[in-house]
Amino acid sequence: MRILVVEDEHRVANYVCRALGEEAFAVDLARDGEQGLELARTYDYDAIVLDLMLPRLDGLSLCRRLRQEGKHTPVLILSARDMIEDRVRGLDAGADDYLVKPFAVEELTARLRALNRRQRTKTPNLVIGDLELDPATRAVRRAERPIPLTQKEYALLEYFMRRPGIVLTRTMIAEHVWDFTFDHSSNVVDVYVKHLRDKIDTPGESSFIRAVRGAGYVFCDPKTAGA
Ligand code: CA
Repeated sequence: MRILVVEDEHRVANYVCRALGEEAFAVDLARDGEQGLELARTYDYDAIVLDLMLPRLDGLSLCRRLRQEGKHTPVLILSARDMIEDRVRGLDAGADDYLVKPFAVEELTARLRALNRRQRTKTPNLVIGDLELDPATRAVRRAERPIPLTQKEYALLEYFMRRPGIVLTRTMIAEHVWDFTFDHSSNVVDVYVKHLRDKIDTPGESSFIRAVRGAGYVFCDPKTAGA
């Protein structure tokens, strides 16, 4: 899951980003409302964690603008304001959930997972060839055989399966599955692609993931790719 955190308070931002990172969420951070809106418009986040009192553009206005523009990314408001009318205003502005500071990180991550499930129940399983991924349960099967994956391997596979046949650069993969602070000189994308191949491919047969020289990787059904 890729999450946008919009929070101007350093201490809270660091705490939230670190906690979400530990849960294998890929996290981008915006320090003010304008930057948050720009990122939310540009990228396909699975959820947005939104503070209310922000420089340049407040959280409620950000949320309203997104909804007016037809963006339905789930929004969880994180705020020190705990009056009922604050919660109502937040939900009326188009937010999906509201969590009051201080909060337990376990509750934040559980709520994000719940938002994601609600979103995902609308979408069917991803199927490419005999490989099947269920975003709601994170179960992966090949020809009915369950394939256990680590969280990063799963995130990588879901990213690939949502973009079949498209060449994905290492930078695109890194920014989605890891985050913007990713060290682009490292070979971690290649290492994880290899791990994933070892798990999903059949030895001796073509891989689901093909390397495109000088560009990146493309995901496709080895049986129809003709490779
Ligand atoms: Ca704030």
